Amino acid sequence: MILYTPKNAYAVHFIHYRTLPSFPREVREAINKMPLRIATKIDAVTVCTIHEGPCKVPSRPCETPNTLMGIAFKVRKDSFQHSKGRKVALAKAMATLPKAIRTALWRGYLLKTHVIGTVHPQSEPKKKGAA
Ligand SMILES: [Zn+2]
Repeated sequence: MILYTPKNAYAVHFIHYRTLPSFPREVREAINKMPLRIATKIDAVTVCTIHEGPCKVPSRPCETPNTLMGIAFKVRKDSFQHSKGRKVALAKAMATLPKAIRTALWRGYLLKTHVIGTVHPQSEPKKKGAA
C-alpha cells in the first residue's frame, strides 16, 4: 500500500511467512541472534518493508534500496492474526523514522485499514432532546 506524509509517498509491503523453511535470510539472521528458548518457539513471521517513492521492480520483494524492515515474530502458543502481525511489523519498520513521519504513516495505515475514519451509526452520541 502507499501511505502519504505531507512531503512524501511511502510504499509499505507486508509478507506473512507461516512455515520455517519459507523464512527469508533476514528473518533467519534475526532469529539466530535470539536466545534459543525463544528462537525455537517461533513458527511464523510477518515482514514489513517500507521505503520512499516508487518500487524499483513491481515484484515482491521490490529490491528498492534504502528499504526499512520490521519483523513481527509469532511463537507457537499465539494464534496467527494477520492484522496484529502487520501492525507490529510496521511499528518496527518505522522505528527509526522521525515521529512526525511515523504519526502521518500510522494515520494513513489506520485509515486504509478502516480502523479509524468510519463512524458506526450506533456509536454516535444521542443528541439531547432528539426523539
Ligand atoms: Zn516497494
